[in-house]
Amino acid sequence: MSEKKIIIIGGGIAGLSAGCYGQMNGFHTRIFEMHKKKPGGLCTSWKRQGYTVDGCIHWLVGSGPNSKFYTIWQELGALEGKTIINHEEYGRVEGSDGKQLIVYTDLDCLEKHMKELAPEDAAIIDEFISAARQCTRFEPPIEKAPEVAGFFYLAKIIVTHFPLMRMLWKWNRISLRAYAARFKSPILREAFPMFFVPDFPVSFMLMTFAWMHKRAAGYPVGGSLEFSRGIEKRYLSLGGEMNYKAKVARILTENNCAVGVKLEDGSEHRADYVVSAADGHATIFEMLDGKFLDETIKGYYEKLLPFPAIVYVALGVNRVCDDIHPSVGGVAIRLQEPIRIGNQEHTHISVRFYNYDPTLAPEGKTLVAVMLNTDYEYWKKLREDDVRYKAEKEKIADTLIAILDKRFPGFASQVEMRDVASPTTFVRYTGNWKGSFEGWQVTPETWSFGKLMKKTLPGLHNFYMAGHWVEPGGGLPTVALSGRNVIQIICKKEKKKFTTIQ
Ligand SMILES: Cc1cc2nc3c(=O)[nH]c(=O)nc-3n(C[C@H](O)[C@H](O)[C@H](O)COP(=O)(O)OP(=O)(O)OC[C@H]3O[C@@H](n4cnc5c(N)ncnc54)[C@H](O)[C@@H]3O)c2cc1C
Repeated sequence: MSEKKIIIIGGGIAGLSAGCYGQMNGFHTRIFEMHKKKPGGLCTSWKRQGYTVDGCIHWLVGSGPNSKFYTIWQELGALEGKTIINHEEYGRVEGSDGKQLIVYTDLDCLEKHMKELAPEDAAIIDEFISAARQCTRFEPPIEKAPEVAGFFYLAKIIVTHFPLMRMLWKWNRISLRAYAARFKSPILREAFPMFFVPDFPVSFMLMTFAWMHKRAAGYPVGGSLEFSRGIEKRYLSLGGEMNYKAKVARILTENNCAVGVKLEDGSEHRADYVVSAADGHATIFEMLDGKFLDETIKGYYEKLLPFPAIVYVALGVNRVCDDIHPSVGGVAIRLQEPIRIGNQEHTHISVRFYNYDPTLAPEGKTLVAVMLNTDYEYWKKLREDDVRYKAEKEKIADTLIAILDKRFPGFASQVEMRDVASPTTFVRYTGNWKGSFEGWQVTPETWSFGKLMKKTLPGLHNFYMAGHWVEPGGGLPTVALSGRNVIQIICKKEKKKFTTIQ
């Protein structure tokens, strides 16, 4: 057994994953997490007046055995004792033409429904559904970190996955927004950009629909914090050391080697390796003072697009909401009058009713959430004036409640809890740059950068990064894999065979 020590900055899913795999491979690991007592970073929940506001998981790729990511969640103990819900519907979109699109997670049902709704678009629907069906046969090769996989392994992967990679390459270059414009039907034109971030490539949605069709992208009952706690439990059972209220101020370096960290409280801790699974910008430009940089890495932070910041409004309603079909993303309602938050105008809101998870609300009541993209700079400025900041949050909650009252009569009088998290809330609790909720967006640029996005910094030895700032597109399975891959890289350096067996 190696006695080597690894310090991990951040106890989000990437940090917890690196911790678990580090322990499985005989390292002594310590996680330093700035939160008072909760693991998970963005994958979290919080209590408000008897409700549990769930702050993350809409769908979890790998929740079922038809995805390779399932193995990773098994290794991490994340799904132990969990009930998984695979929704029949991804969501519903209420269009301006009075039609409603039901986005079924079963591709056959989706195809049938789309064609009934928009027979004029049969050809393009065929193209889309057939691509999604092709994706059901595809699983990314995740066993070996690309950084340690030899030439022959990579060559084999390229050959065996070539047709699907070529197909995805085509769909990577079309955004949901651009693809929507190809439909003749107004409801499909309106709905497609709402499936996710509008400028995201269609390939992302194809893969997501494929996983949902395979029942491998469900929701774990109990929500996000319980999910993170499952991994923390595994980490602790493997002998890992979790340190809360431990904000890392600096990464200590000597002779271009990372040798430990200095916490905000002034204490210093030494290790053979340092892995930062915290925010990328803070790691590079604050904890390391921007000393280990090159033009490529500088370029990421100057040119690439982070995911948008969000306002997250949670409402606790004294209503069962059993008239609403449970779904992944909820109901997208078209607004009679657009609402404006900062620089951003919203013509629709997607309302998520957690009527399928009784653990999040008292009996007979329901947690409801609305997530709105917004402009980080607007909120940063607003945060300087406490009165205006609080007033803006109240105004947003009031506006949404009034909209929901019109659509679901009686709703306003049933609201008994309201909670508004702004982008500055996300920054305060997780440190994510500009309030991004998932690191870098995947665009044609990140895609080509992304293939090369390294987990190391130039000129700095014994240091690695994990998490959604080095894995464009982010998301829970990707960051768990990122933590796993970093440990594979360290194992190779230490001439140890990587293992997941305990
Ligand atoms: C509303 C919302 C919905 C989402 N829905 C989904 C979904 O349905 N499916 C999905 O797969 N993904 C989803 N995501 C994205 C997913 O949550 C993230 O991509 C993922 O959790 C990122 O994990 P991470 O470990 O890389 O980073 P983080 O979660 O940001 O973890 C970083 C950790 O580092 C800590 N930290 C930061 N700075 C320091 C410091 N100086 N010292 C010590 N600790 C520090 C933070 O407190 C945090 O715990 C969603 C995210 C949000 C916000």
